[in-house]
Amino acid sequence: MTTIADKLQQVQHQVAAACARAGRDPASVALLAVSKTFGPEAVCEAARAGQRAFGENYIQEAVEKMAAVQALGAPALQWHCIGPVQSNKTRLVAEHFDWMHTVDRLKIAERLSAQRPAHRAPLQVCIQVNVDGGLNKSGVAPEDALALAGAVAALPQLCLRGVMSIPEPAPDYAGQLALHQRARAVFEQIRASGLRGLERFDTLSLGMTADLDAAIAAGSTMVRVGTGIFGGRTRPAA
Ligand SMILES: *Cc1c(COP(=O)(O)O)cnc(C)c1O
Repeated sequence: MTTIADKLQQVQHQVAAACARAGRDPASVALLAVSKTFGPEAVCEAARAGQRAFGENYIQEAVEKMAAVQALGAPALQWHCIGPVQSNKTRLVAEHFDWMHTVDRLKIAERLSAQRPAHRAPLQVCIQVNVDGGLNKSGVAPEDALALAGAVAALPQLCLRGVMSIPEPAPDYAGQLALHQRARAVFEQIRASGLRGLERFDTLSLGMTADLDAAIAAGSTMVRVGTGIFGGRTRPAA
């Protein structure tokens, strides 16, 4: 049987190989282990293999898992919210997560900033960009991303770290690359804008199990991998 530790290592090799092909330093791409629908034992197994950053989509599930993982004696982990968040869930995100990747409206960002507990470091956030106008309607339109970034960067309890995107699945590598390059272009536009509050703007959250090679070629600095590490999800992505 292939263990989570084995699969984690395979994904790390895949990331390193993609970096080599792209002429990039493998240390420039962080691996986020997407543990949605998997239990606390799976998270602990990945943690024992050295993984520290985990991504979750469903807020309630995630908050319960964080407590269970801690009770199992795991080391301190970094939790990233990568799912869509309604206004009534922002408080849980602000109180429990380290990162939030899916900010696509100022209202959500304002709530997160206001609800971030003062004793915690600012919430690290990415602006989610909808690069293909796809069925998945989350994400700000590319032409509106800079204005949103400017407003988010000014909020006191948030630290704007970058851009995130979830393109619709493309049929081949060239198609994946083209979509990922649109997200990269938005990232570069914001980075070059001279906006205040971009001191730590360094993250392009791009690529999942099926398209991580193309994402790394397009400049991703954080790939979000679920299936490749934990196996197929038996529960539907709610
Ligand atoms: C589920 C999910 C992932 C991981 O997808 P896999 O195909 O299992 O690697 C990455 N990013 C987001 C936003 C997701 O919802």
